[in-house]
Amino acid sequence: MRTDRVERSTFSGWVDPPADILPPLKEDLTCDVAVVGGGLGGMATALRLAERGRDVVLLEAEFCGYGSSSRNAGQLASAPGGDLQLLNLLYRGRMPGMVRLSENAARYVEDLIDTHDIDCDYEPVGNCFAAVSRGQMGRVRRVAKILRRVGGHVEVGTSAELGIPHGFVGGMREVVGGMMNPGTFSRGVRTALLASSARVFERTKVTDVTREDGRTVISTPHGTVRANKVVLATNAFAGEWEITPRNLSVPIWIIEAETEPIDAERLAALGWSSRSGLVTQHNIMENYRLTSRNTIVFGVRRLERGTTFPLPAREPDQSLVDELAKGFARRFPSLADVSVERAWGGWIAITSTFLPLAGRLGDDTFYSIACNGHGLAQAPYVGSLIADLIVDGHRHEDLEHIWTRRSKFPRAMMLGRLGVRMIWAVDRWNDLVNGSRRNARRANTV
Ligand SMILES: Cc1cc2nc3c(=O)[nH]c(=O)nc-3n(C[C@H](O)[C@H](O)[C@H](O)COP(=O)(O)OP(=O)(O)OC[C@H]3O[C@@H](n4cnc5c(N)ncnc54)[C@H](O)[C@@H]3O)c2cc1C
Repeated sequence: MRTDRVERSTFSGWVDPPADILPPLKEDLTCDVAVVGGGLGGMATALRLAERGRDVVLLEAEFCGYGSSSRNAGQLASAPGGDLQLLNLLYRGRMPGMVRLSENAARYVEDLIDTHDIDCDYEPVGNCFAAVSRGQMGRVRRVAKILRRVGGHVEVGTSAELGIPHGFVGGMREVVGGMMNPGTFSRGVRTALLASSARVFERTKVTDVTREDGRTVISTPHGTVRANKVVLATNAFAGEWEITPRNLSVPIWIIEAETEPIDAERLAALGWSSRSGLVTQHNIMENYRLTSRNTIVFGVRRLERGTTFPLPAREPDQSLVDELAKGFARRFPSLADVSVERAWGGWIAITSTFLPLAGRLGDDTFYSIACNGHGLAQAPYVGSLIADLIVDGHRHEDLEHIWTRRSKFPRAMMLGRLGVRMIWAVDRWNDLVNGSRRNARRANTV
């Protein structure tokens, strides 16, 4: 695969930054609820609060949709993230609730698209856990059994039965969810928010959150906001203030790349008739999806740990792009001559369990963090539930399974730099072994 002319972006390959970025906060004001962070999580929280008649202010450091919300792969998943066999072992009792939350989250986003008539190329084609080997197929079958037991809607089959590329052995389709352009989706949610009664300030980086006379005071470079309640929705950037919970998650940098447009006949020859998005069953997944511009977007495969705050704005290193290209050529040998046209990346917050977290600090500060690689559906859904909690005073049952009051995971369990490198090495070793086995089987057949 050619990777020598890749356009590398510090934002997203899906969409340009908005042309109408709003001015920063330049005064002191009061409000009922302040939301910090204008990703899908923060925007959905503020939008819901405004719809329910609350006086809400949203403060965003850059522009709404700047973070991973506009940068992700656009795969609207409806199963929980992480190693579901391990989660089932450790948190069996929480599995039904997690599966329900995940499906409800995907349905919530589909409703949001409909309600606000958001043009984001949404295709309700589901997503597949795609197996690259017989070993991965065994894992997929075990996961499907777990999900079905707790009420998940999934179907298992060979690649031909699922309509996914011939290069995969088979997989499991999450029936709910699908594929979209997350850049135009985030833009659409921003447009809905700006049309609501919420007061939105962009280019307004919150520098501190403190308590004064029973109210929370939010400091920014040119003004303060005094609020009765605050929702922190800063995702991976959350480590910046004292008030933010420690040790709940770590920031991880991941990237996506996109091919040049591919001839329709060559795409059809792949056998990808379902158009479902794909995630492999490696310890660190690879994702692949078709786009409406006849390209394939693919990503992850390697993680990089963020170590200092504030997290830097980055463009993907050539070595990461080359790494993704290697994986692509292996999964799609017939497209190994195609060029990578662009690449971008983003920061996500990862928890030790891969489950999202939400909680409350004291009486009046709420947070939602770490929807891991599943935040396209879960971040806005959890945000809307936090808004309802503020208005109604009681927690929706879907919040119960992710609600936490304090740091739960010891530091040792967090993903260290060496750890993420080793997990990647195990995946490559398995690829090597599976490749040799496949070659041996072919030789025996001949
Ligand atoms: C490359 C990539 C691929 C992914 N693929 C998928 C996928 O296919 N499916 C899926 O479900 N999920 C995916 N994800 C994860 C998903 O994008 C995230 O979980 C989700 O977007 C998180 O939304 P959020 O609103 O919590 O955070 P973000 O979108 O990161 O928003 C946080 C916002 O807070 C703002 N902020 C930070 N600090 C401050 C401050 N001090 N003051 C004011 N504002 C501040 C930031 O500027 C940012 O706009 C992917 C992520 C990446 C990076």
